[in-house]
Order: sequence, then structure tokens, then C-alpha cells
Amino acid sequence: MPDTLRPNSLDSFWMPFTPNKAFKADPRMVVRAGGMHYYTPDNRAILDATSGLWCCAAGHGVPRIVEAIQRAAAELDYATTFNLGHPSAFEFANRLGQILPDGLDRIFFTNSGSESADTALKIALAYQQARGKPGKYRLIGREKGYHGTNFGGISVGGIVRNRRTYGPMVSGVDHLPHTLDVARSAFSRGQPAQGAELADALERIVQLHDPSTIAAVIVEPVAGSAGVIIPPQGYLKRLRELCTKHDILLIFDEVITGFGRLGTPFASHFFDVKPDILTMAKAITNAAVPMGAVAASREIYDTILNNAETPIELFHGYTTSGHPLACAAGIATLDTFKEERLFERAAKIAPYWEDALHSLKGEPHIVDIRNLGLIGGIELSPRADNNRAGEVFRKCFDAGVFVRYTGDVLAFSPPLIIEKAQIDQIVDTVRTALKQVT
Ligand code: PMP
Repeated sequence: MPDTLRPNSLDSFWMPFTPNKAFKADPRMVVRAGGMHYYTPDNRAILDATSGLWCCAAGHGVPRIVEAIQRAAAELDYATTFNLGHPSAFEFANRLGQILPDGLDRIFFTNSGSESADTALKIALAYQQARGKPGKYRLIGREKGYHGTNFGGISVGGIVRNRRTYGPMVSGVDHLPHTLDVARSAFSRGQPAQGAELADALERIVQLHDPSTIAAVIVEPVAGSAGVIIPPQGYLKRLRELCTKHDILLIFDEVITGFGRLGTPFASHFFDVKPDILTMAKAITNAAVPMGAVAASREIYDTILNNAETPIELFHGYTTSGHPLACAAGIATLDTFKEERLFERAAKIAPYWEDALHSLKGEPHIVDIRNLGLIGGIELSPRADNNRAGEVFRKCFDAGVFVRYTGDVLAFSPPLIIEKAQIDQIVDTVRTALKQVT
């Protein structure tokens, strides 16, 4: 690495979700990005097979987004949205409402997916109170679910490592079973045919506690962080039916599935299942500025506003909710998605992606390949050191492709601008890496 780019020390930055000691002993750095690629300090191009972290859906360094941020920073660097308005926050909320599922057009701005999850849970509870049902306070998440790292999110979440060091969780939470069933559904193309009945576990939880105590169910339509779990055919519809039957709100965490990942604006469109509350983040600004948002139905918004006991209807918000730079980036991002027809593009290239990924079947260590839209997951058999996928990740990076790994799973979520030749490059690089690891 050239000395001008080398930090004096790597000690101070406590890196998130990273083996700090191992990373700092053998660091990987990038200093630039553009389109489908990152660039290392010695100017090697690294093909980004994960859109950063499921977030740069339009690719890196999109000029229109960069310019919008620069303009916004020069015009209005910051304004609170507590008792004060600025036009881009209203405009961006309106624009989001136009692409969200019908009627889900009351938008609360946050700064991340984690904040969106906790905001969604709080809105669900506030709604039940506002409609005179304060006894409906229980929250239901799912095993292997990931809803960020704040206390609400880890409480309804079901990734054990994210919970177990942090003492008591939020109380009144139950978990549905996860839907991953490698024994039954390995190498399914798209949605597994079997497993819709797993949604019926909600019926058992409802019987246990009584529906009059349950506020909301939260799930990721496609679970990412636990290793890419595609919902079985019919599962989400069944969950929706049961929630409606028992007067329980359904929350979709669309932090990774929002903004074209499945070839539709949201997963809700893809599965034709409408939640009552929907969370977003990541690609909402193409990740050029941190931002998240929660969309609630008009019914929820009106109920909370019309039944408030104080002039402020919801005691919740963030200093940087609806930040001018984030809103400007968000509007430019939506313009980019629309003008470049990126959601349609993702839908069109998804079959090629599926075929390419499944061509890896039979390569060493692979026990399952999962895909939907422009999402992919390759599960490897476990190794004693729990780090086979980590080794594949490093080999791919050295060979010029940035993938993600979580546990034994390699996860893929390339920018929606990806070309067929780049899909081939990803698959060939992974194939070679798999042959090299023990
Ligand atoms: N929900 C889901 C489904 C996610 O995948 C993530 C992040 N991977 C989050 C919430 C949390 O988002 P953030 O890291 O922006 O807090």
C-alpha cells in the first residue's frame, strides 16, 4: 500500500461484525469505487458481488447521486425535522409512497435498518394503544431472523450470537420457527416447494397467549444475515392470512429486499403479500448517505394521530431523521432506479444469475445453493475451525471478487447493473476458490 494511503495505526477503529485481531493482522482495504468495482490502494479492481452490504443497488459512485449530495450540502447542510420542515423530506416521502405497496405511504425517517426495525415495533405498539387495545403488546419474530442490532431488533431477531451476550431482552417476545430446511429443499431453484405449513406455528403461539395479547409479527421476506433463507412457496401468504384472522399487524423488514433486489420495487410486490408496516434502509439512498425509513399504512398513521393525548402524537424520532443530504441522495437514487429501469433489469437478468449460481452444484464443500431475484446463497459443509467460508471469501478477494460470508454461507447480492460476463466472473472465481480450500 502506498505510504500516503496507509493509516498510522489500525488499533483505534473497533470494526463492527469483524474478527478485529485477524483482520488487523492481514487487512484488506479499498480506497475508491465506481460502477461494479472497488479499487484497492494499489489500484486493483475488485468486482463487488454484494453491493457493498446489500446496499449499493445502482452500483458505486453514481454521478447523479453524488451531485445531489454535493448540492444539498452546499444549500442546506442540516435542519431538524422536529417542528421544522424542509422540502426534500416531504418530497422524498411522497416519492417513496409512489413505489411502496398501495396505501403504505406514511413514512417515518430513520438512519439505519436497525433504527427502522425498532421504530416499526414501537409504531405497532403505539397503534395498539391508540386503538384502545393496550393489552396487545406481545411481539413475534422468527428464529434466524435479523432486524439489526438495537434492543428491539435483537429481541425479535433470532440469531443467537447477536443476543446471548447482552442480558435480558425486551420481554413479551415469541419466535416462529425459521424456514431453512436443507434436508428437504437443498438446491431448490427460487422458492422451495415445501414448508408453507411452517407459518401455522403462529396459530400455536396465538393459542398459547390469546390473540388479544399480540401486537405484531415481524419477518424478513427473504432472510439475509442468517445465510440467505428463501421463503417456501405460499408461506408469506399464509402468515398474512393468520395475522389478518387474529387482528395482528404484519411487519416486513425489507431492508435487504427493498428497491429492486427481487426485480420488483419491494418483496411485498414480488410475493403479492401486503404488510401493515414495512422497513427500509441500505439501497434507499444507494447507501451514499446513511438512511432508513418505516412505511406505515394510513390506518395506522390516522389512528395514532387521531387518538393522541398530547399535541405530539408519537414520542419518537432522531436528530437526523429526514436529513437533507440523505433525502437528496434518496430522491436521486429513485430517479436513477426509474430512468435506468434497474428493477426491470434485475428481473431480466435473474434467470441467468440462477443458472450460473446453480452451475456450481457438485463443486467441493457445497451442501446447498439458494437464490431468488438477484440474491444468492451457497452453503458449505462446516469445518472444524468454523471458517471455511471465511477462507473462500479471502481467496475470492485476492482473485478480484468481493463476496460476503456469514457462518458457512457465501452470500451474494450484486448491484442491479451487473452484466452477464460479471456474473460469470463471480461464479468462476468462487469455483476456483472452492477447489483451493480444504
Ligand atoms: N434488517 C435487515 C433485514 C438487515 O439485513 C439489516 C442489515 N443487514 C438490518 C435490519 C440492519 O440494518 P443496519 O445495519 O443499517 O442497522
